[in-house]
Amino acid sequence: MSTPHKYCITPKDPGAHLFEVTVTVARPDSSGQVFSIAAWIPGSYMIRDLARHVVSIRAEADGQEIGLTKIDKSSWQADACDAAIALTAEIYAWDLNVSAPHPDTTHFFSDRACVLTAVDGQEEHDKERVTRQDAGAMGGEWRVATSMQVVEAEQDGFGTFSAADYAELIDHPVEMGDIQIGEFEACGIPHVIAVRGHVHFDMARTCHDLSKLCTYQLNLLGTPKNFDRYVFLLYVQKDTYGGLEHRWSSSLACSRRDLPRRGEAGVSEKYRKFLGLCSHEYFHLWNVKRMRPDRFAPNDLRAEIHTGLLWVFEGITSYYDHLVLVRSGLITTKSYLEHIARAITRLMRTRGRFRQTIEESSFDTWTHFYRQNANSSNAIVSYYTKGALIALALDLTLRKESNGKCTLDDVMRECWSRYGESAQGMPERGLETVAREVSELELADFFERFVRGTTDLPLQGLLKDVGVNLHMRPANDSKDVGGKPSAKDTTPPTWIGAQLVERAGVSKFTVVHSGSPAEKGGIAPGDVAVALDDLRLHAGSLDFRLREHHVGDTVTISVFRDEHLMRFPIKLGAPPEDTCYLELESDPDAGTEKMRAAWLTGDSNIRKI
Ligand SMILES: [Zn+2]
Repeated sequence: MSTPHKYCITPKDPGAHLFEVTVTVARPDSSGQVFSIAAWIPGSYMIRDLARHVVSIRAEADGQEIGLTKIDKSSWQADACDAAIALTAEIYAWDLNVSAPHPDTTHFFSDRACVLTAVDGQEEHDKERVTRQDAGAMGGEWRVATSMQVVEAEQDGFGTFSAADYAELIDHPVEMGDIQIGEFEACGIPHVIAVRGHVHFDMARTCHDLSKLCTYQLNLLGTPKNFDRYVFLLYVQKDTYGGLEHRWSSSLACSRRDLPRRGEAGVSEKYRKFLGLCSHEYFHLWNVKRMRPDRFAPNDLRAEIHTGLLWVFEGITSYYDHLVLVRSGLITTKSYLEHIARAITRLMRTRGRFRQTIEESSFDTWTHFYRQNANSSNAIVSYYTKGALIALALDLTLRKESNGKCTLDDVMRECWSRYGESAQGMPERGLETVAREVSELELADFFERFVRGTTDLPLQGLLKDVGVNLHMRPANDSKDVGGKPSAKDTTPPTWIGAQLVERAGVSKFTVVHSGSPAEKGGIAPGDVAVALDDLRLHAGSLDFRLREHHVGDTVTISVFRDEHLMRFPIKLGAPPEDTCYLELESDPDAGTEKMRAAWLTGDSNIRKI
């Protein structure tokens, strides 16, 4: 049996955001042990070249420094040596993000892939130690929150932890600092929410609501093997939102106002968004963390891995995140329909949906979705937004064509059993195969048109079949994100088809939609707005100014491009009907009502365990 590697993280100068990571390898490769740092983090498909955070690195054997040669941008080879090697890297990190380490004098959050060097060829056994002395240097009443398996720990959580292998080791983010801890159970499994950031909120209610959504999901797909704990690590800031999934935990960021205040009743739009985020990351516990594209095995973190399936893992997860909320009684049907309508609005405002298929969007995420530019909305489509709506369309198609006998829940349970529990991985056409086999329906046309093609989804008809009416209307103004009927007595502004955003008192055009009056007239992303006709133009006045004119009028928009003053004649267009809202059919027939109830409650499909 191999001796586990020992990792120790020491804050070197927290105020300067510097820390040291030492890995001790008992039996190094005698021809020269290679160490490496990941180029990307699982769940975030962008090459980050994390080794660039290394400030200095050294290796020792028997207390003596030994030679270390850098062999590429993220790997080092130690001199041939038979004794145990201790490799120490000094690392700078300061990025207040869910997928990055950020140590300072008040806390230390670390995503492990960013800071732990892999011992090449020996990734199978690893162990990490977090000692009181490590944190003691930073002072204060600190506690540790992590999903890592405890070997021995004190009451505040400091101690020794272990992980089965390197992949698991880096899958346990750790938070140390002054944190609020909430505890609850779901299906008898202990869950923790660890909250950092000065925030006063209703922890008891949050735990109660999280317990409901976790319980629903565990009943829906079944408790995975060895799933005996879960930790939500939440960092509360002024204005932020995001999450990163792990197998036994998730790293979340939200803004202070997203959490419920004590005594607050109902579910605000912001709290719905927060619950949706938790639900999303929790669903990943099955969908991407344990059931993955087969191309992700082995999970080489040094270079891109391409798959056309990210829409399955992010899109279907995005579909279920809010569906779970309505099914577990946390939000109302009205609130859920508003959420879907906003997703439809986002998709309908993306011209790129005609240029890129969802498979291409998944495959190209490294260079397109994660590296967007001003033309992205004209050229690409989000595998989150469109993926969620394909999942909705597939669910409603299965329900309709099978007369309610087969649903996406059945397909996901079979996928989980076939590709997840077996750890086999999903092949590129795996979802399609399972959907056809489970439903016994011919679905080739569905996948050709909507997954491998760019045809718009037939959501109006499919929603009608479950007693939901889909309406499209023009945007009320540039802040209108859809989800609700038009405000009364609102005349939509005439349309130029460009977004104008104000930052630090400067209004700049950010996105210019393809085929729009602004594009035809000559406006480019980055142009600084100066005037519309002879009056000053800024982001806050654009809607008002466009309402002063009629469709077909020509106005002159003046901009600065770099230092050049330029004037463009713009022929104003009619506002497109790209804004969606959904309403329940008030008097559906019995069959439609039954279909709707089955979809929104999921009752007939939950496997009781
Ligand atoms: Zn996700």
